[in-house]
Amino acid sequence: MIPQQQKPPLIWLNVILFTLTFAIATIGVPLYCYFYKLDLTLVIMTIVAFCYCGMSITAGYHRLWAHQSYQANCFLRLIFALGGAFALQNSILHWCSDHRVHHRHVDNNLKDPYSAKMGFFYSHIGWMLRQYQASRYHDYSNCIDLQQDPIVVWQHKYYLFLVAIMNIGIPVAIGVLLGNMWGAILFIGVLRLVLSHHTTFLINSLAHKWGSQPYTDRNTARDNGVIAWLTFGEGYHNYHHIFENDYRNGIRWWQFDPTKWLIKGCSLLGWTTNLKVTSADRIEKTRAKMEFIRLQYKLKTLPNNSVRLLQLQYEYEALISKISDYYQVKKRLIDLRQKKLVNNYESFEFMQQYESIRQKLKQQRRDWKYLVQQYTV
Ligand SMILES: [Zn+2]
Ligand SMILES: [Zn+2]
Repeated sequence: MIPQQQKPPLIWLNVILFTLTFAIATIGVPLYCYFYKLDLTLVIMTIVAFCYCGMSITAGYHRLWAHQSYQANCFLRLIFALGGAFALQNSILHWCSDHRVHHRHVDNNLKDPYSAKMGFFYSHIGWMLRQYQASRYHDYSNCIDLQQDPIVVWQHKYYLFLVAIMNIGIPVAIGVLLGNMWGAILFIGVLRLVLSHHTTFLINSLAHKWGSQPYTDRNTARDNGVIAWLTFGEGYHNYHHIFENDYRNGIRWWQFDPTKWLIKGCSLLGWTTNLKVTSADRIEKTRAKMEFIRLQYKLKTLPNNSVRLLQLQYEYEALISKISDYYQVKKRLIDLRQKKLVNNYESFEFMQQYESIRQKLKQQRRDWKYLVQQYTV
């Protein structure tokens, strides 16, 4: 905690904006629902506007611009740039600069702009309420690449104008369309903004506090399926912090990551290209390494542990080597299939070899899982 007298000055604009919008949403919306009948079209439009803001941040600001995990055509970039102004989370350039510092110096209270080690409130919203890192506020030297993107430069230059157009223009236009000006301003103007703000802020606060750490415990980032539902898939934050250039955050098919689906869906239309993914063997090895470190740590606390430690080491090394063997042979199989050589005699032998390596890995995975379960109960 920083003593009160040493705290940097408040940024009054942010304090007033966050307080006022939050107060209007939490008091105004229940009052509106009490006195007026809620219009379904208004509710649907609020949800659409909320999703537009959220995905502009997750797919645009975060995965496209901050991490360059894929490329997008100018139409999509323009849509995201406008959505980012609608979400009122600063310009792309500024947001990405902060976010790249966050990844580079995660949990470092002096450098990480929203370090989770400063506490929940600070990482959620507190970091924006005072001039904590005023010295680097206009330093965009870590975003030279983004300064080559004319849409990023344009959005940065006209940011406040775009904020006004999006945040006043859209609710007013919908208000005229529905014949319900106050309802549109309250729901699409204010409620949507507050929900969009706080769900995004959860990624910096709650996703660094609540959940599991299957890939690394070297930072506070967590994987959490519940947070993923609130943040358009950004809840798999432990994975994201270790493989930040992957366009996916939830890598399994059942993991809720609509941002990933949007990017993939757009690639089918040719709007997004060069989608980066981490190789499956690297992911599996990273996960196994984390389990190995945890188990090793646990075993060291037990008496007479030398034999068990040796067994753990042996099983871990066997798993890593079998993962390497399998993915190597799988890569060859894909090559052969591409060259359509799978049907001749030589490939029959190869298929037998492939199957045997696959079975060996399957068995080793089972043995490893059993070992992990033995010590985690
Ligand atoms: Zn983070
Ligand atoms: Zn990130």
